Amino acid sequence: MAVRRIIRMGHPTLRREAQPVAETAIGGNAFSNLINDMRDTLRDYGGIGLAAPQIDESVQLVIIDLPGGQSRYGDLEALPLSIYINPVVTSLNTETAGYWEGCLSVPGLRGFVERPQHIRLTYTNENGTRLEREFSDFHATVIQHEIDHLMGTLYIDHIQDPSLLAFEEEYLRYLVPAEE
Ligand code: ZN
Repeated sequence: MAVRRIIRMGHPTLRREAQPVAETAIGGNAFSNLINDMRDTLRDYGGIGLAAPQIDESVQLVIIDLPGGQSRYGDLEALPLSIYINPVVTSLNTETAGYWEGCLSVPGLRGFVERPQHIRLTYTNENGTRLEREFSDFHATVIQHEIDHLMGTLYIDHIQDPSLLAFEEEYLRYLVPAEE
């Protein structure tokens, strides 16, 4: 297990479509090591989600580890460490909501992004089972942000109002109070 370096915006891997994981790879040593590295890296960097392309592995694998409780997004239900392989997102309706997003590959910035708020995720878990799960509100945003990484998309691509892209310090000073 190892903490890997997270690549940053400008690295071509972040703009590439990731390859599907072969079913036969799931459960193998190389794949288990990759999941362990992603978990260690996510914890070391202090994020809530990580997509494999962010450590320069262009495969369709995402991990999410969202502690629950009070946050600037409200009182959140936890999403304990989960692994999504070859995930596909479907919007369940047209309702959208906006959140200030950040990204370990775009450090130091925050941007306001509107996304569908009710989604269904179809994915394979670490045991190779194909599953479906629905997500709403902030959880739906987190999932879509990570799955975008598998398609070479960054959250900044979705910002509709460029004045709502800010450095973290200015975001905290000027933009958080305006939202509440
Ligand atoms: Zn990201």
